[in-house]
Amino acid sequence: MRIFLALAALSGLAWAQPRYDMTRTRPLESWKRQITEYSRRHYGEADWRLQPRCIVLHYTAGTSFPWNLVNEQSFAGEAPGLASHYVVDGARIWQLLPPEVRSRGAYGINHRAINIEMVGADASDMINNRKRTLDTTTGLVRELLERFQLTAKDVYSHQQVGQMNRRVCPWVLDLVNGEPYSKVDPGAASMRYVLDKLAR
Ligand SMILES: [Zn+2]
Repeated sequence: MRIFLALAALSGLAWAQPRYDMTRTRPLESWKRQITEYSRRHYGEADWRLQPRCIVLHYTAGTSFPWNLVNEQSFAGEAPGLASHYVVDGARIWQLLPPEVRSRGAYGINHRAINIEMVGADASDMINNRKRTLDTTTGLVRELLERFQLTAKDVYSHQQVGQMNRRVCPWVLDLVNGEPYSKVDPGAASMRYVLDKLAR
């Protein structure tokens, strides 16, 4: 009995804390400064802190690690560069930013969202060739939902966020440009795969 409890505790711990690769983390001091200014302009909140209200899933539109999310200092003429919280490829998870800090991963929701990028070329590559990545992402999402007391209803695709429609995603906002934008990201089949798996 004792051994069983110890094993259960051990596996529970492993489940609650997926192993993140921290070697590609953004330097936090400069990031916090820049994302505070970004948040002030776009959301009217001069704050780097994130209290996550939802999780947004993306694909990278590439087949190798997206170094731009680690290295670039600006995007569209504005600092900071793009960066999600996590990048998932196969069984690996890189944490680029801690989930308590705002990222720049999805226009219109960076003040409320945890952003997760899955390495994959396009919607069909994602669902046909990247099941391992989708499975790892599902585990990561499950852990984050528990940790921040969210539910599967709080998981969106970047495509849904881009509609800039509060009936689709109640948190969307942007003070610079609130117009909808259109993209396939990460694709309906991959979203369904993750959400179905979360429900089991
Ligand atoms: Zn995206």
